[in-house]
Amino acid sequence: MIKLKNTATKKLEEFKPINPNEVKIYSCGPTVYGYQHIGNYASYIYWDLLTRTMKLNGYNVKRIINLTDVGHLTSDEDDGEDKMEKGARKEGKTVWEIAEYYIDDFIKNYKLLNLLLPDKFCRATDYIEEDKKSVQTMIDKNYTYETEDGIYFDTSKFPEYANFARLDLEGLKAGARVDFNSEKKNVSDFAVWKFIKPGEKHAMRWDFLNRPGYPGWHLECSTIIHKELGEPIDIHTGGIDHIPIHHTNEIAQTYAMTEKPLAKYWLHCNFITIDNEKISKSLGNIYTLQDLAEKGFSPMDYKMWVLSGTYSGTRNFSFSDLEAVKNRRKNWRNKIAMIYQSTLKNADGSALETSEKNFKEKILNAVNNDLNSASAFALIDQLPETTSKSIWEFIDELFGLNLINDSPNITEEQTKLLAERKKAREEKNFEKSDELRSKLENTGISVKDTPNGQIWQYI
Ligand code: AMP
Ligand code: ZN
Repeated sequence: MIKLKNTATKKLEEFKPINPNEVKIYSCGPTVYGYQHIGNYASYIYWDLLTRTMKLNGYNVKRIINLTDVGHLTSDEDDGEDKMEKGARKEGKTVWEIAEYYIDDFIKNYKLLNLLLPDKFCRATDYIEEDKKSVQTMIDKNYTYETEDGIYFDTSKFPEYANFARLDLEGLKAGARVDFNSEKKNVSDFAVWKFIKPGEKHAMRWDFLNRPGYPGWHLECSTIIHKELGEPIDIHTGGIDHIPIHHTNEIAQTYAMTEKPLAKYWLHCNFITIDNEKISKSLGNIYTLQDLAEKGFSPMDYKMWVLSGTYSGTRNFSFSDLEAVKNRRKNWRNKIAMIYQSTLKNADGSALETSEKNFKEKILNAVNNDLNSASAFALIDQLPETTSKSIWEFIDELFGLNLINDSPNITEEQTKLLAERKKAREEKNFEKSDELRSKLENTGISVKDTPNGQIWQYI
């Protein structure tokens, strides 16, 4: 049984798919105006685990991730400049070049993290015609009104608006900035389409309602889900920042368009902090995966750090913790290295098979409990050195940590040195074998002598 903490009900619920054997998942993706930092990638790592867990439980997964290349303003409240336009101006490039560059960078890193590709990455700008249809439907159904700067969703027309995020609309009203968009009827109303005023610089523009404009940020997700998956989907994912505005607005739009709920289960990951601070430009603590690589940590070390906690818990990143996780990963790889070198044969094959099956079930059960990879990792730590390769294959399938692919990856030179050392020992030339041991240590592996011969390990 899979249990998930559903933001919509605030409860840990048993997962029951809408259609038998099928799970439709939509994950809100990146805004492609700059490099994604390690906090952003944590969210995709958690949802990769969700996807892999569903697959190992026998479900066919249909999954979409969107790429926001238009309309995400510097404030989530229809305020400020379009992040894409700002990014392009800063770099002296066109918005289209900026989008292309950062989409490529995102997908490159996504693959380096060995995250399962979704059925489709959907670019917001590929859905403009569908967006227009979405807006037209909302206009026709009287959910919107027009202001000088766009078409706004009238949240008072959707009485459940405050429910999802348990918003205090009265409190919001009291705290609203007085200078901001006096044409808005309710403080929570939001733009579904923005107009471009004469003289306003906005390179991405489409004609609609007899003037140039572009979609409001929240619209793309409702439109893409409508076109690609159909409502309601099983699981919608995002970060906790999406709860009060972005996802609340997606739900309102989709209801207005289709009279259906958007998703059955909503999962939101907590934010990663660094040295207990928010990840932000002003604090200068924005690390990318490349920054970690320069400090000697692979994308897999980082992925393993993320999965050594849980998506809903608070997570604080530090390099000392990452170092500890790197060692933990090395220990696991050493266990795999032992399997490759082991000449031991397990006498009772059937007993081994039963314990293997039990072990796989235990790991999957741990993860089925609201993606608790942390408790699954504690079980893996206890695996003896003489387990079978198939357990590690299962672990790799579930977590995508490339443990087997990366082990044993000793070089030709190391293989040669090991053979020479074996020969030296056979010839009882211990001086030479010790010399070869230190040579091997300089290349990153240690050697120990066992009754079954020499065994190497990653240092
Ligand atoms: P963005 O490109 O800003 O739209 O963010 C992409 C994804 O990263 C969103 O799902 C955010 O919720 C998520 N995110 C942003 N910052 C963090 C963080 N510090 N920790 C975890 N997830 C984050
Ligand atoms: Zn979204």
